[in-house]
Amino acid sequence: MKVLNTPADYQKWREENRSFSVGFVPTMGALHQGHASLLAESKKQVQKTVLSIFVNPTQFNDKKDFENYPITIDEDLKLAEELNVDVVFLPEYKDLYADEYRFKICESDFSKRLCGAHRPGHFDGVLTVVMKLFQIIQPTKAYFGEKDFQQLSLIKKMSETFFLPLQVVAVPTMRESSGLAMSSRNRRLSKQGREFAAHIYKTLVEKKDREECLNELKRLNFEVEYLEDYENRRYVAVHLEGVRLIDNVQI
Ligand code: AMP
Repeated sequence: MKVLNTPADYQKWREENRSFSVGFVPTMGALHQGHASLLAESKKQVQKTVLSIFVNPTQFNDKKDFENYPITIDEDLKLAEELNVDVVFLPEYKDLYADEYRFKICESDFSKRLCGAHRPGHFDGVLTVVMKLFQIIQPTKAYFGEKDFQQLSLIKKMSETFFLPLQVVAVPTMRESSGLAMSSRNRRLSKQGREFAAHIYKTLVEKKDREECLNELKRLNFEVEYLEDYENRRYVAVHLEGVRLIDNVQI
């Protein structure tokens, strides 16, 4: 497994591996089985698998959230090695943002709803960093989790809109046995909090009516940021023990 830090180093590797199909899994690290399922899908479908780990500051509207984001590089590299990842791309801020974020990709409708309504600028940061990474990595296929369904939809649409020569592949949400969607942020919950957080998915599945679902989460004392239906999906964001958790289900 190669660990490459700069776009130039990666581009050299890509040039040498021109004849292979490349699957790309962008992440912010603190890897878990959800990330592993994206990597496994790539391993099945293409010849070389590239994982990137970069905690992207431009997508955090809350400085504290960025500073508290879990970083577990040594464990992440170990897992990547076990999963037979071919390349880990591990850039620094200056490698991706030589422009100091003067240039951005913005979407004017869906990115302003749901998570976007509560995290101003979040999706500008996401779309911009993903566009930069796509340009560097030059993947055949790129893998994104349904856990972040709004993000997945926006990235799919961006790729079509800009005629990017790659396929965006959706991977179902991996859950703990309790039903809780796996997330790097779950590490910041107490043991009790992690158990309690299972009520989010349970409520989404059990309460068919939106109002009922919202009332149940409030009754359980979750601080609900939003609970909304949009195009056949129900999306939720709550705060628990100071940790922001999101989930979504098809309705
Ligand atoms: P993150 O590191 O949280 O930015 O996530 C990187 C990628 O992994 C994104 O495409 C996420 O949607 C995906 N992902 C995160 N958690 C899960 C999960 N529980 N199941 C499936 N995919 C996930």
